[in-house]
Amino acid sequence: MATDTLTAPVIVGTATRPKIYRNFIDGEWVEASTGETFENRNPADTRDVVGIFQKSGKADVEAAVDAAKRAFRKWRLVPAPRRAEIVYRAAEMLMERKEDYARDMTREMGKVLKETRGDVQEAIDTAYYMAGEGRRMFGPTTPSELPNKFAMAVRTPIGVCAMITPWNFPMAIPSWKLLPAIVCGNTCVIKPAQDTPLSTFNLVRTLADAGVPKGVINIVTGFGSSVGTPMTEHPEVRAVSLTGSTEVGRIVGTSAAKTFKHCSLELGGKNPMIVLDDANLDLAIEGGLWGGFGTTGQRCTATSRIIVQKGIYGEFVERYVNRAKSLKVGNGLDETVEMGPAINASQLGTDLNYVEVGRSEGAKLKCGGNKLTKGEYANGYFMEPTVFIDVDPKMRIAQEEIFGPVVSIIPCDNLEHAIEIANNIEYGLSSALYTKDVNKAFSAMRDLHAGITYINAPTIGAEVHLPFGGVKATGNGHREGGIGAIDFYTEWKSVYVDYSDRLQKAQIDRPE
Ligand code: NAD
Repeated sequence: MATDTLTAPVIVGTATRPKIYRNFIDGEWVEASTGETFENRNPADTRDVVGIFQKSGKADVEAAVDAAKRAFRKWRLVPAPRRAEIVYRAAEMLMERKEDYARDMTREMGKVLKETRGDVQEAIDTAYYMAGEGRRMFGPTTPSELPNKFAMAVRTPIGVCAMITPWNFPMAIPSWKLLPAIVCGNTCVIKPAQDTPLSTFNLVRTLADAGVPKGVINIVTGFGSSVGTPMTEHPEVRAVSLTGSTEVGRIVGTSAAKTFKHCSLELGGKNPMIVLDDANLDLAIEGGLWGGFGTTGQRCTATSRIIVQKGIYGEFVERYVNRAKSLKVGNGLDETVEMGPAINASQLGTDLNYVEVGRSEGAKLKCGGNKLTKGEYANGYFMEPTVFIDVDPKMRIAQEEIFGPVVSIIPCDNLEHAIEIANNIEYGLSSALYTKDVNKAFSAMRDLHAGITYINAPTIGAEVHLPFGGVKATGNGHREGGIGAIDFYTEWKSVYVDYSDRLQKAQIDRPE
């Protein structure tokens, strides 16, 4: 990527006119073929326009895929340790830029600074981890069944990969996809969520500054139907990785299947946290607050159902609700704020609608439920932390992903009952159990039907070197993070070298 183009992604930015960001295709910052743009506004204060981005179309996707295809010819031949060195350099640069990028992220998506620093840190952790993979990428060598014959399996890159990402982890999730993909020798076209494109720009700009060659990573901004669809349908795209809702996952999975693309779908969740009578209540309450209201409940792993054993139910509810009421809501740029706004008007509308659904189903609204509109909240998408109690596990608020600060507390008789409630749902991403009984902990680790189980910690807090993903409607069996990502972004090639100087027939010639 030529440095002069890298330093100029922005057309104009003055005190009164927001910055205009262009697509990044073949190492150049270019306008969309449509000539159209869209605004990225701060959800805590919608008067603040974070930037203007390109509203791209099919022609832009085609240009980006062409660039990625050309770049693949050379990039696949760069030794993996050399590719990984660039990613390592990017990790060091992200460390230096962390604070600026965290502030950009809080402005564009609303989560509090402590969490956006964590989001950038997750990209840094992923970069260090994947840089190490460049010197591993292990494959098996194994004895041949025939004499004087050598057998091994090597990892090969797939080709052009399309990545489609959500808005809730706008740097971490793109990093989970881009970094293993390029270390493995693939080239990429990424479409960030329309609400949070800037954080992806910051990540890709850093990778470019670190030395990723032109065309290896391309960004096309815009909307799902006009950019996402042509990405998933393009015949030259060989792998698609989507993180998003189960509804969109179904569309993307169906589309990718038509041309036999590798397809990784990381989708929704409705994550249970079980609290048994013997739990450390202080720990469980703090964990349930962090899991339920961190990122304003907008995490795929959010603790949206808390299943509490009857012996401590009353005390748990009272203390949890009191703490939820005391959470400070506001603009995430204020270091004292604990919960930011919803991402946009539509998500806030969904959250408030579920409050009505819960009420109409007969759950008890114990706190919250209202939009915040006065004073500092007047120009943002704020609502109160909301807790329903005595929720029946069959109610919609206990079954459907809300993706907002709305927690359902469900009573249970014992661990077996709790696990039945926890598992009786469409999703299977994360899960948690609070207990001091090691036997119960191990039973739950075995029986909870989810991709992730935490013991004595809430349902959020994944680390980048372990597999991340879920079962049932949460995905299609792939995992991000750790070695699972290397598995997704490579194909196995088995190689046999016969140095016997004669025709040896496997399964037929059986040495005495
Ligand atoms: P979304 O499904 O609305 O959008 C995700 C991305 O898909 C966006 O970039 C969007 O523009 C694009 N898209 C929309 N329609 C498309 C189409 N027809 N073809 C191709 N692309 C299309 O999700 P969101 O609102 O951005 O994010 C919230 C969802 O993401 C929640 O359901 C959450 O659980 C899920 N999520 C899952 C994980 C995970 O790892 N399992 C992590 C974070 C978020």
